[in-house]
Amino acid sequence: MKHQKIVVIGGGASGLLAAIIAKRGHANVTILERNPKLGKKILATGNGRCNYTNQFTKAEHYNHPAFVEHALDVFGAKKTIQFFEKLGISPRIEDLGKAYPMSEQASSIVDVLVYETEQLGIEVLCNAKVVHVKKQQNQFFSTLSDGQIIKSDKVILATGGKAMPGSGSDGNGYQIAESFGHHITQLFPSLVKLKLNSPYLKSMDGVKIQGTVQLLDQNQVVQTEKGDVLFTSYGISGPTILQISRKANEMLAEHLEVKIKVILLDQMTKEDIERRFQMMQDKPLEVSLIGLVHKKIIPSMIKEAGIHNPAIRFSLLTPKEKGKLASLMLDWRFTVVDSKGYEDAQVTAGGVDVSEINPLSMESRLVPGLYMTGEILDIDGLCGGYNLQWAWSSAYLAGKHASI
Ligand SMILES: Cc1cc2nc3c(=O)[nH]c(=O)nc-3n(C[C@H](O)[C@H](O)[C@H](O)COP(=O)(O)OP(=O)(O)OC[C@H]3O[C@@H](n4cnc5c(N)ncnc54)[C@H](O)[C@@H]3O)c2cc1C
Repeated sequence: MKHQKIVVIGGGASGLLAAIIAKRGHANVTILERNPKLGKKILATGNGRCNYTNQFTKAEHYNHPAFVEHALDVFGAKKTIQFFEKLGISPRIEDLGKAYPMSEQASSIVDVLVYETEQLGIEVLCNAKVVHVKKQQNQFFSTLSDGQIIKSDKVILATGGKAMPGSGSDGNGYQIAESFGHHITQLFPSLVKLKLNSPYLKSMDGVKIQGTVQLLDQNQVVQTEKGDVLFTSYGISGPTILQISRKANEMLAEHLEVKIKVILLDQMTKEDIERRFQMMQDKPLEVSLIGLVHKKIIPSMIKEAGIHNPAIRFSLLTPKEKGKLASLMLDWRFTVVDSKGYEDAQVTAGGVDVSEINPLSMESRLVPGLYMTGEILDIDGLCGGYNLQWAWSSAYLAGKHASI
């Protein structure tokens, strides 16, 4: 049996797992990582706790469900939890199926992966940035920035996307893929905070509410998310916003007008609000809203309703003004102008066109022996452990098939 010589470019989430699987499959494996250490981005995941999978992962949590299906069938959440349990990670399952290491430290995931690579005798070259890869007579030649050339039978390209470029994943891997004739679909940041155009951002900065947000395309609701919403000096953030950011950025890229409807009081009806107004008739307007909406929102809401005197007695408001106040509580619209970009994004939407990749093995359909894993591919998932799960699932297939 021939022992394949495999070069894994990128020692992040998918590169590490692919290397381990390939080495267990008796391949001769070398990881080339541009950073001084392996797994830098993993340390930042899950707010430093690493939400490494989601118990309820399904193909529909991703942008190309048909493409990811096989990888998830072969190495889905259950297998991932078992894989990491064997390495020492006891799972701690939290709300909505999110899995974290019991230690609540993302560094635990890196530590056990690195320990396993050492145990298996995987060769690791750090400070090794690959600048070029070519294939000649069934051999790959990976050139490092210092001119060194590493020869291999197979290459697994695990260089990540463009999100958080300081982690080493700055999108340079797309050029390597393109040099082999692969196409890159439109790229945009996902799971990212959004910038709004609103005169009230300064005064509402820091307000956190439990509400509902809806993404609108020409007044039609295209996505609804319920939960924490955080107003900031540049716009809006929180888990609800991260979830709608993919679609919002996709619409921005298409130059569509992007509006967000915020339902501040999603547990109240218009009638509930009107009943409350009735009880507050004698109070000054600005006082009458205390206890109903966040205090920092009140001045902005009064201005947005077109009322110039915040101290006016509530009973003196016109029916139109009262109606406007009530409607802002249930439907306040904001215009999205941009996102915080790749620096702030958790994941890149878009990547290597998946029609050029075999979903059963992650091998390129254009270049036999070239495999791709993780975020470099045009695959992204929702927030909640799905993106790392994709890194592990795709890496498992690539590591297994490359070693054959
Ligand atoms: C702040 C933050 C929080 C996140 N939290 C979560 C979470 O809790 N749960 C979740 O599921 N997902 C999370 N993600 C997303 C997840 O981390 C990524 O989807 C995942 O790491 C992608 O794995 P990857 O192997 O494709 O790329 P990466 O993990 O980015 O690894 C790519 C590696 O390749 C190296 N590299 C790049 N180019 C070269 C080159 N030319 N030569 C050599 N090396 C190179 C890079 O230095 C890097 O180490 C988060 C992302 C961010 C930014």
